[in-house]
Amino acid sequence: MPARGAKWGRVADQRVQQLQHQVRVKEERIVELETENSILHLKLAEYQEMIGKSNREATRFYFLYNEKQYLQRNIHSTLIKLYQVIQKLKQDIKEFHSSCLELIRNYQDQYRVCLSEIVTAVHRTQLYNEALQSHQSRAVHLEKCLQEINEQYQIEKQKRKLLHNSLVELKGNIRVHCRIRPLLPFDNEFDDPVQNSSLCEKAIHAVDDETVLVKCNRPGHPLINKTYNFERVYGPAESQRTVFGEIRPLLMSLLDGYNVCIMAYGQTGSGKSYTMLGPHLPDDPALSLDSHGDLGIIPRAAEELFRLISENPSRSPEVEVSIVEIYNNEIFDLLAKDSCTLVSGVKRDVITTKEGKKELSRLTYKSVSSAVALMGLVAGGLRLRVKHPTLVHTDSSRSHLVITVTLTAASPPDSSHQQPNPMLKELICPSAPRTAGGEGPRASRRASSPGAGPVGAAGPPRQAQARLQLVDLAGSECVGGDAKLLVMLCVSPCQKHLAETLQCLGFGSRARQVQRGQAKRGVPASGKSK
Ligand code: ADP
Ligand code: MG
Repeated sequence: MPARGAKWGRVADQRVQQLQHQVRVKEERIVELETENSILHLKLAEYQEMIGKSNREATRFYFLYNEKQYLQRNIHSTLIKLYQVIQKLKQDIKEFHSSCLELIRNYQDQYRVCLSEIVTAVHRTQLYNEALQSHQSRAVHLEKCLQEINEQYQIEKQKRKLLHNSLVELKGNIRVHCRIRPLLPFDNEFDDPVQNSSLCEKAIHAVDDETVLVKCNRPGHPLINKTYNFERVYGPAESQRTVFGEIRPLLMSLLDGYNVCIMAYGQTGSGKSYTMLGPHLPDDPALSLDSHGDLGIIPRAAEELFRLISENPSRSPEVEVSIVEIYNNEIFDLLAKDSCTLVSGVKRDVITTKEGKKELSRLTYKSVSSAVALMGLVAGGLRLRVKHPTLVHTDSSRSHLVITVTLTAASPPDSSHQQPNPMLKELICPSAPRTAGGEGPRASRRASSPGAGPVGAAGPPRQAQARLQLVDLAGSECVGGDAKLLVMLCVSPCQKHLAETLQCLGFGSRARQVQRGQAKRGVPASGKSK
């Protein structure tokens, strides 16, 4: 029994060992399989990852595919549009091409026309050029002729000046005219009609245009029957125009470079202002001779002066004006404004220069370019003469007015070869009186410079100057040099003014004696001396 058990034990052991072996084999197999399983898991994971990747790729490709599809669709529609545009462009190009051809054809036609026109124009230009050349040579010839004529004209002008001056000198550099005014209503005023009826009778008569007869045959008085001769006698009926007609040549002398002085002399009420200015104050400077036939010498001279200037615009002189009033031995500058009171009409002093000449200090000169402007200044001055507070006076004969018009012109460039002409010398080296300092006229500021020597000397261009003085009193300020002086004696025809009239006529005769004295000293004797 134990043996059997042992046997069974052995068998069991063997069996156990077998089973254990099998278990071990199995376990090994399990390990193997587990390993294999792990490997497979790993592979599975790897494949899963690959599948995921592939899925993502597939999705990306899917999107790409969709995009492509979309693009393809877009490209397709764009292609269609492009095709349409290309078709349209083709059509346009076709049309453009045909219109280009048309244009080219037109241009060709026009070109041909233009070319023929150009050819004609060139031909015409050649003709014009030939004509121009012939005109040019004619112009050169004409220019030469003009130059010759101009030179001849200058010579003739100088001759004219000399002749005019000789004519004026023949009439006398100092001329005395006498104007007898008409009897006027106021000549009867304040007279006792019974006792003094003869006083209003005419005692002064113009016998002819050179002779005044003073005839007075009053009871109880010595008989007066006396004649006076003057260069010109104006009767009561003679007009302002006639009076100025005799004076007009002096304006030409002024433009020739001579100083001219015209002064009215006579007793109060004898017609000085009437003769010099006219019956009215020239309030309206725009008034012309047409509207006022009775204008006096001053407005007529202003108009004549600017008329003569306008005749030769190439050498227009500058015209400057000064207006002075002399009252009670005091001199007032009627164009100056007092800087403190702003009142016009400033007192001026007479000063003596180093050369011993009497001159006015700081006299105002105003430039004018027309007769209207000149008369505007005269009107202003005259209004001031009446209104100025320091000049209030009832006796107008004590107030003397001096209007000075100064002409300043540049010397002609070719004056050097005309030196022998004494008048030109006068133009270049004026002997007109000069003011000291102040706003003197240009010529006095410049011609008195060291460079102002005789004509032909080197130096800056010189200026010529001439002055016209219009005065209402007797005086001899302007006599001297080649100045031309005209004294207009104004007389009343009345017996009651006889004393003053005789005095006035006597003054005129004495003035003529001065002229005759000059003639004896070398001025050619005038055939008019009586
Ligand atoms: P004066 O200036 O010499 O004192 P006016 O010129 O004032 O004198 O003349 C005095 C008056 O005589 C004025 O009323 C003026 O109009 C008049 N009169 C002067 N001369 C003439 C004349 N020739 N014809 C007409 N009236 C004249
Ligand atoms: Mg007067």
